[in-house]
Amino acid sequence: MSEKLRALLKNQICDNGPMDIGLFMAQVLGHPEHGYYMRQDPFGAAGDFTTAPEISQMFGELIGAWIADVWIQMGAPNSFVLLECGPGRGTLMADALRAAKKVDGFHEALEVHFLETSPTLKRVQAEAVQTHNPVWHDSLETLPADKPLIVIGNEFLDALPMRQLQKTKEGWAERVIGLDGDDFCFGLKPYGGGVPEDVSGAREGHIFEFSPAQLSFVEDVAQRLKTQSGAALFIDYGETKTQAGESLQAIYKHDIVSVLEHVGDADISANVDFGAMGDAARGQGATVHGPVEQGEFLKQLGIEARAAGIMKNANETQQQEIEKSLRRLTESDQMGSLFKVIGFSDGAALTPAGF
Ligand code: SAH
Repeated sequence: MSEKLRALLKNQICDNGPMDIGLFMAQVLGHPEHGYYMRQDPFGAAGDFTTAPEISQMFGELIGAWIADVWIQMGAPNSFVLLECGPGRGTLMADALRAAKKVDGFHEALEVHFLETSPTLKRVQAEAVQTHNPVWHDSLETLPADKPLIVIGNEFLDALPMRQLQKTKEGWAERVIGLDGDDFCFGLKPYGGGVPEDVSGAREGHIFEFSPAQLSFVEDVAQRLKTQSGAALFIDYGETKTQAGESLQAIYKHDIVSVLEHVGDADISANVDFGAMGDAARGQGATVHGPVEQGEFLKQLGIEARAAGIMKNANETQQQEIEKSLRRLTESDQMGSLFKVIGFSDGAALTPAGF
């Protein structure tokens, strides 16, 4: 399968010259037939990586409580859109909905919408939340525009294409992917655009990563929040502030490999620039909450009490598992600091929990 993807990319490079990393990433991950996410379920021990909702039910449950709290703060509208971007196996949404079941009127008011392009994962998601009749979208454009909106996304932004610049003697150049014989290789081509103030002093050789796709996605979400009212929550690994540095990597069966290896069979992602995401949302008039570290956010939402609660009915092995997942999600040397959480709302009247 991925042979076809590699051939297709090579043909494009032969025809049009080296391509920017964004175009490469968009096709490797999202090509309708051969893209990484289109063909397989990449999660869990047998897959390439494990995400927070797959580590413990507590993650989705706390986000369920976060959503219900936002809904109450919004005045408990009797109909609203709950959108999850890139739901993977649908685990987060299933745990969130179960946890918020007891909130009066919440289930009756919500419409579940998913932004997802992978046919394989859509089938898995349908299984996970079948009683809620979810509606799938390929883009935000088809999302209902006449209702309040709550948006969530875990490890979604990092799946959107990003590009790299490198500082050279002559100034910034764009890193591109070309061919060396039959192999993919990195190269540089002139870059005419500007860079943010924060990285203008970078030294020769330094890399700056940016994602027009993430920025325009966040702008669209923020615009929606402004016109429809509501809030959004995005969780991903990344930096609080815009800065130079390279984080682009591929993950193949839980190992980090070069993005030029296992093309189409490995996940590709890079750190999210939360500083830039916040600026993008503010630019559309939205209020920004955070970013904060995932560990802090989950503790604010009460993950320790939740862990203690479920431990009461667990046997010793299960208790050890719960302890382990708690540490994995919150401790700084695990996912607690690397992952950040950012919230957006239509105005300062909403104060989403956890920030
Ligand atoms: N949120 C899940 C999965 C994260 S992986 C979890 O935490 O386990 C990224 C998810 O985003 C996958 O479901 C993938 O298919 C989806 N995705 C990637 N690019 C996308 C795009 N451009 N539009 C919609 N969904 C996308």
